[in-house]
Amino acid sequence: PKEYVQQQSCRKVAIVTASTDGIGLAAARALGKKGASVVVSSRRQANVDRAVTLLQSQNIQVTGTTCNVGNGQDREKLIDITLQTYGGIDILISNAAVNPFFGNTMDSTEEVWDKILSVNVKAAFLLTKLVVCHMEKRGGGNIVFVSSVGGYQPMPGLGPYCVSKTALLGLTRVLAPELAPSNIRVNCVAPGVIKTRFSSALWENEDVMDEFKKQLSIKRVGNPEEIGGVIAFLCTEDASYITGETITATGGMSGRL
Ligand code: NAP
Repeated sequence: PKEYVQQQSCRKVAIVTASTDGIGLAAARALGKKGASVVVSSRRQANVDRAVTLLQSQNIQVTGTTCNVGNGQDREKLIDITLQTYGGIDILISNAAVNPFFGNTMDSTEEVWDKILSVNVKAAFLLTKLVVCHMEKRGGGNIVFVSSVGGYQPMPGLGPYCVSKTALLGLTRVLAPELAPSNIRVNCVAPGVIKTRFSSALWENEDVMDEFKKQLSIKRVGNPEEIGGVIAFLCTEDASYITGETITATGGMSGRL
């Protein structure tokens, strides 16, 4: 029916990278609950299939594809599939990150730096570059980068990763004024410790957590939904005067910001 088609065309279309688990999946769900059509992706097809099935069961309009954000062809495929399926792009959530290194920064190698900067920073920018012309066709859009509280205050052992997360704070500031004339807002979210596989080494260790909780006002790790909701908020009209900002969601972590 015509009414249905009109409704469809009003839906915002959101690409969320690394969205088959953790924060990305929660962001996809939160955007979907607000009525967006979402495109989930990650490296493994089985994970994509599982996330699509899960979100569909929660009445979210969703499609999915594999995309390793560090691979240029994959990035282009992600855009192509989004356009073929939903006909446009309004929202990009750049959430993917890797951390292949733990130790003294002086022991990190060129390979470590290439990998971390390529996936965590360069891919975020190159994806932005791919989506902007499509957002402009729709009269504007929203981009959200997922940084970390470690981007403000590095955590021991995670030097190169934390530097990559600081770079995203800079990228947000650099792109916001450049894209504002196109009615595209660029923001960033910096989570504290959130209960996902990525951070399991932290929250699975009781001694580490007891020490860590001393820095928190809210004495627990966060849930992915507590970040997904912030990301989705930044893409709504309620956030229409917010650009170039990073919102920290850390349970009131002190001594880090
Ligand atoms: P997670 O639950 O472990 O999920 C990671 C997701 O990323 C999975 O869907 C994984 O699926 C996908 N993925 C991994 N490498 C990828 C790549 N190269 N390209 C595309 N997808 C990839 O992780 P998370 O904790 O939600 O982390 C998400 C973001 O939050 C990251 O940017 C991280 O730095 C940031 N963050 C997390 C915390 C925390 O405490 N958890 C704190 C601050 C910031 P596949 O294996 O199928 O690729």
